Amino acid sequence: MHPLPRSLEPASGESLVSYLLRLGHRLSLRPLQLIRAAGWTDRVQATHIPGSLLLNLTGPEAQGFARLTRQTAEEVSALTLKQWRDRYPPIALSVPGPGPKRPDPWLFVGSPRYCPTCLAGDCTPAQQLHGGPWRKLWHLPIVFSCVEHQTYLEASCPHCGQPRAISGRLIERANDHTLHPAQCRWTIDSPTQKRKSRACGGRLDQRVATDPCHRPHPTQGILRFQQSLLARLEPLTPASDASEYFTDLRLATALIGTTWPAGKHLLDTALAGHVTAYVHSTSGNSSTSNRLQDHRLRDVLPRDSIACAGLLRAAHSLLKADDLSEHLSQLVHTLESGRHARPGYASTPAMKTRARGDSETRPNH
Ligand SMILES: [Zn+2]
Ligand SMILES: [Zn+2]
Repeated sequence: MHPLPRSLEPASGESLVSYLLRLGHRLSLRPLQLIRAAGWTDRVQATHIPGSLLLNLTGPEAQGFARLTRQTAEEVSALTLKQWRDRYPPIALSVPGPGPKRPDPWLFVGSPRYCPTCLAGDCTPAQQLHGGPWRKLWHLPIVFSCVEHQTYLEASCPHCGQPRAISGRLIERANDHTLHPAQCRWTIDSPTQKRKSRACGGRLDQRVATDPCHRPHPTQGILRFQQSLLARLEPLTPASDASEYFTDLRLATALIGTTWPAGKHLLDTALAGHVTAYVHSTSGNSSTSNRLQDHRLRDVLPRDSIACAGLLRAAHSLLKADDLSEHLSQLVHTLESGRHARPGYASTPAMKTRARGDSETRPNH
């Protein structure tokens, strides 16, 4: 394999997806061509780039891409989510072992949320030409806002409204080299005999001025909460503490989601309203089975960043409460005896243990 004639320096915090899009844009190469040139063909079928590449690259895969793009293997490895594997359990839970494995629902693999201002890039020539980075952090649903630009992340394309479902692909239209990295890559129509399918192509790095919802901005309290979550991904927090916290946060989030509105008092009125709207839209959808609704409320964080922030904030407040065991007992009781109890769902043994009186002090952020 020969190195490419020109390469591109990765931006700080940039994801592998972002790098493939921006480098491809610079060289007019399809993302799929770059992947084939790097020798990653074992994992790639036809035009399908699997999400597993984002989670971890093997030594030879990182070295192959490093030679191709004139980087070090460490720099290439830093484009994946591997660095948080011991801190954020959904990453290790999603790394493929023997047999196919779906990504954990607490990861956005294919279509992360995004900050339009970050995508617009800074004033450096490379970012002016090829856009700002798609950040690795956006693949973690616990990151619901951009602290730098003090905004909630966008959950979907304002032009076509996608994604509406998870495709399992790391990059949509991986054979398309005509799109700018900040353009929406979702396909908006089916191919006909006369022409190929088209991409949406809407720009994601520009705020849509006619946004009818007048999206609110995160409060200082929510931004501080976001920062406390980000701090747990940093080396200053011991990895085992971070991992335990995110496991507890997930259990508490599941409990609050499935017993809503029992935990409504944990939030201010505005945020609670967004969570209520999310829970209603999830559990009030008659086209999905009770089991699927329960799965969504229990295991999946909302794509809507504000509802997501609300649920996580309520879960964090629950974990931090002085009378944690009493709170947990009440919620578990609501879950098991009330109208929320449905076949197929039972609280986990860990929740019950906590509810029985393990009220150790949680980190105070
Ligand atoms: Zn931003
Ligand atoms: Zn679109």
